[in-house]
Amino acid sequence: MVKNKNIIKISTPIIDSNEISAVTEVLKSGILSQGSKVKEFEKKFSNFCKTKFAIATSSGTTALHTSLHSIGIKRDDEVITTSFTFVATSNSIIMQGAKPIFADIEEDTFNIDPVSIESKITDKTIAILPVDLYGQICNFKKIKEIANKYGLLILEDACQAIGAESNGKKAGTFGDMGVFSFYATKNITTGEGGMIITNNPLYAKKTQRFINHGQKNKYEYVDFGYNYRMTEIQAAIGIEQLNKIKKITNKRIENAEYLTNKLKDIEGIQAPKILKGSTHVFHQYTIKVANFKITRDELFHYLRKRGIYCGIYYPKPLNLYKFYKKFGYKKGDFPVAEKISKQVLSLPIHPLVSKKDLDYIIKTIKEI
Ligand SMILES: *Cc1c(COP(=O)(O)O)cnc(C)c1O
Repeated sequence: MVKNKNIIKISTPIIDSNEISAVTEVLKSGILSQGSKVKEFEKKFSNFCKTKFAIATSSGTTALHTSLHSIGIKRDDEVITTSFTFVATSNSIIMQGAKPIFADIEEDTFNIDPVSIESKITDKTIAILPVDLYGQICNFKKIKEIANKYGLLILEDACQAIGAESNGKKAGTFGDMGVFSFYATKNITTGEGGMIITNNPLYAKKTQRFINHGQKNKYEYVDFGYNYRMTEIQAAIGIEQLNKIKKITNKRIENAEYLTNKLKDIEGIQAPKILKGSTHVFHQYTIKVANFKITRDELFHYLRKRGIYCGIYYPKPLNLYKFYKKFGYKKGDFPVAEKISKQVLSLPIHPLVSKKDLDYIIKTIKEI
């Protein structure tokens, strides 16, 4: 077994004295909720994404649930999403009483396949919920064409893609609303937390009410709602994290490029594909292991034993989980996602992974 200090973790939050003093300041102020920090974070976030509105929430999941409500998703509506994502994406559809309709993915980007989306449309379909998986924006040119053709709304799950760009436009701005997560492993974090962005004033108003018990003003309950608010402490951390985002993203990209250069000639290992005009922010650096000397699972254990904590995102597409059987899914429904889930392996590239660590990862794979 390797000693703890030699482990290269798959993710580490980048926290320094700025976050610590920002939190201390909030604690000393005595205002822990619904104060100026959340408003400041929202303002800075909407400036960053260049959208009219940004509304902070308690998590990415509550942000997804809220935005589905805000665009008008109701019981028995159908929302098309990818089968190859974290379960929060599809659970949020169920939270709104609607039905998650899965689509298959593209082999090279792992993102939702527009052709598969179109094949799943029925007269109950209201929206498409694509995920910018691992930090690369989906093919929104095609997705928007489909949405326009059938009159569907788009909600972008950009939880893994903060700061990513496609032709100069930021992740989260490609649909009617966009959603982010600040969970501890995400590129920037508030521990738990989320954000919703939109340019639509009606959606923004509905969002503000839904996360605050349907209140228009204090004790003026105009609608149903939840308490999905972000705290002042989270927002204070978020402001400092947003100040660092350029540095964090650049370091991730630099580490990813370094790995790709060294891995690209190894037979059976495929480095992540970056689309033209796209800035991939590498929430995960995910290789495909196919026809390599050993299987993906063997490589996972081999690296882990040597202190390289890689990850498998995700071991199965959602349609293969027992819970989703009741929605009528079975094995073989999404052949690409099912195949890819057996090939993907994410390697550590977060900003605290050093050149030495990267060389060690490369050497360890090459010696096989
Ligand atoms: C992290 C994540 C979420 C959920 O965010 P939480 O903040 O953990 O609730 C949703 N969708 C995707 C794709 C994610 O990666």
